[in-house]
Amino acid sequence: MFEKVLIANRGEIALRVQRACRELGIKSVAIYSEADKDAKYVKLADESVCIGPAKSAMSYLHIPSIIAAAEITNAQAIHPGYGFLSENAEFAKRVEGSGFIFIGPRSDAIAAMGDKVKAKEAMILAGVPVVPGSDGELPLNNNEVIRIAKKVGYPVIIKAVSGGGGRGMRVVYEESELIKALEITRSEAQSGFGNPAVYMEKYLENPRHIEVQILADEYGNVIHLGERDCSMQRRHQKVIEEAPAPGISAKIRKEIGNVCIKACKLIKYRGAGTFEFLYENGRFYFIEMNTRVQVEHTITEMITGIDIVKEQLYIASGEKLRYRQADIEFKGHAIQCRVNAEDPFTFVPSPGKIEQCHFAGGNGVRIDSHVYAGYTVPPYYDSMIAKLIVHSENRKEAINRMKGVLLETSFSGIKTNIPLHLEMLNEAGFCEGARSIHYLENYLKNK
Ligand code: ADP
Repeated sequence: MFEKVLIANRGEIALRVQRACRELGIKSVAIYSEADKDAKYVKLADESVCIGPAKSAMSYLHIPSIIAAAEITNAQAIHPGYGFLSENAEFAKRVEGSGFIFIGPRSDAIAAMGDKVKAKEAMILAGVPVVPGSDGELPLNNNEVIRIAKKVGYPVIIKAVSGGGGRGMRVVYEESELIKALEITRSEAQSGFGNPAVYMEKYLENPRHIEVQILADEYGNVIHLGERDCSMQRRHQKVIEEAPAPGISAKIRKEIGNVCIKACKLIKYRGAGTFEFLYENGRFYFIEMNTRVQVEHTITEMITGIDIVKEQLYIASGEKLRYRQADIEFKGHAIQCRVNAEDPFTFVPSPGKIEQCHFAGGNGVRIDSHVYAGYTVPPYYDSMIAKLIVHSENRKEAINRMKGVLLETSFSGIKTNIPLHLEMLNEAGFCEGARSIHYLENYLKNK
């Protein structure tokens, strides 16, 4: 096992990885921007290095500074967390090229899955069902695109080949809107992801978002840790997640899990990863693979008892998977609410100083958060300030437990979306479960 790991991230995930390192007796190195000098994860790390100013491009996204920090602290490996450089193949390559271990897949696997068209092609080869759509990138000839859209059938969605984070997508309902939407998405893709290429998919009108967590080692051993339902979204971003997904039987879980395992073996995948699917009328359609730990990995940990970040560290250090599929048992139900510093109904960000803050506790309650009373939420980064997680015997009790957690938790000085979470957890449709990816937005629209 490593002696020292550099964590190339900030906020709650930096703290999360640090906790796993401590448990395994690994020293942790935190990196931070000038805006994060008072952060909890910086204070609690064994060592810390300031890598630049607040602006991400000059700190958390600045590869040379991060590698230099690993060099001066003699770290052996780098954990990228999620977001920032976690799915940047060039970063993984330069980390390895500089003599460090990248805690994640090989850079070619990141590159292949980061290109959503290539990822879909690989999945088709592996027998994974995908959303029907264009054969690869859309051509530059508009008449060709019009012909493809007709064949796919409206509504269609135009998506950036290199997109991520719910951005770079546009739904088109009829031919008259197509070319304009195409041009806008291309230019957004160019400015947002440095690649103007786009592709087209059939727009599924009422799917759920269901994803499968996998773990794979160097030696071709792969297991799945079941699925999560992340259908409660706003602007293609997840707000509430739960595991297992309501209505998914053990038989279906096993089937889709095996499909993902087979795909991992085919692409020789290593590390933790997630296969994201849309699920409609009993069928799964692959949309993308995330080659990193996800924000919602926690709920899978709660129902399986497996620490995914620890397993990432074991796998990266060259150990064989410590579990076989038969060892994995799914117990109870877990829910996670993402708490953001924002107005609960206008969604305007609300950075600033947290005057008071109180978190819930109790049996089956887990709080993953980097904030504390007196902490100032900087305006430069993602607005998520805490993940509230509960685990209980069944879904109904998990919902009730989460309601208690939301009532007990309080912040002053900033606004949070806790009131929205409370409304959702009291909402009849949500409580029934198995709602589509449009449910939350429709609820907000009708309000
Ligand atoms: P990103 O990498 O930006 O997260 P994804 O491809 O994972 O993009 O899609 C994010 C979300 O966008 C999905 O969870 C879903 O809500 C919506 N979406 C993507 N593709 C489709 C589609 N073909 N039909 C309907 N909704 C879609």
